[in-house]
Amino acid sequence: MLEIDIARKSYPDRGGQPHLALEALRMRVRPGEFACVVGPSGCGKSTLLNLVGGLDADFQGRIALDGQPPAGGVGFMFQEPRLMPWLTVLDNVRLVLGDDPGGPERARQLLAAMELGDVLDAFPGRLSGGMQRRVALARAFVIEPRLLLMDEPFVSLDAPTADRLRTMLVEIWRERQTTVLFVTHDLREALALGDRVFFLSGAPARVVLELPVRLDRPRSPANPAVQALQQAVLERHPELLAGLANAADDAIEETELEQP
Ligand code: ADP
Ligand code: MG
Repeated sequence: MLEIDIARKSYPDRGGQPHLALEALRMRVRPGEFACVVGPSGCGKSTLLNLVGGLDADFQGRIALDGQPPAGGVGFMFQEPRLMPWLTVLDNVRLVLGDDPGGPERARQLLAAMELGDVLDAFPGRLSGGMQRRVALARAFVIEPRLLLMDEPFVSLDAPTADRLRTMLVEIWRERQTTVLFVTHDLREALALGDRVFFLSGAPARVVLELPVRLDRPRSPANPAVQALQQAVLERHPELLAGLANAADDAIEETELEQP
């Protein structure tokens, strides 16, 4: 179980004023669950992932994975693929392996599953944006993370490429039962991917709505059922549409919408 209880996270300097980014933010993610987080741009989604991943320890609150601070065993995938240009595809994935004896074989298998078996010795500069993301996806899974944190990893890709990557992600996630926390500002992407979607308010961000998604997989953002659910969510919660969910509203709401 991933437990996130952030009392406060503020950044010290914003033109002399501290900026309160997150406040009273609480989430529970079950083992093996695919959880999505949506919220307006600048609301604090990346801040949240940095805290969960231990990249930033400067906050008040508690974050625990199976009762422990989630040190180690956490995989990341960012908006940019962040590959080392001077290393081959295979070496980029091997780079994150310690001396795990099964690692190199797993790297090859994952790259093959990502349909990159033919470009193991290529350098990232030669690859398309979609291929680079697939390398980053293989690298994220190769350490067999207990928790995978994804920060808008498919942004700025064309729709078919992003769709293909989502399909691949869901396939390996289902095989491996990794707990995933996936951040996006795109509600349809969240509904297409998640078992559950957490909606954040504007700054200071907290969870204003939690929605279980029970649509059959595979799903694509273009799926009529996904579109219908998006429509239903926005009709029921029009404040989310504006990305202005009011942080002053009291309790976290749990929504149950009819789903086919
Ligand atoms: P999101 O990922 O939802 O777009 P971020 O988490 O990146 O939002 O940022 C949330 C807020 O915190 C923004 O107002 C941003 O300007 C601010 N912020 C982010 N990182 C820093 C930092 N290192 N120092 C000061 N302010 C920051
Ligand atoms: Mg961000």
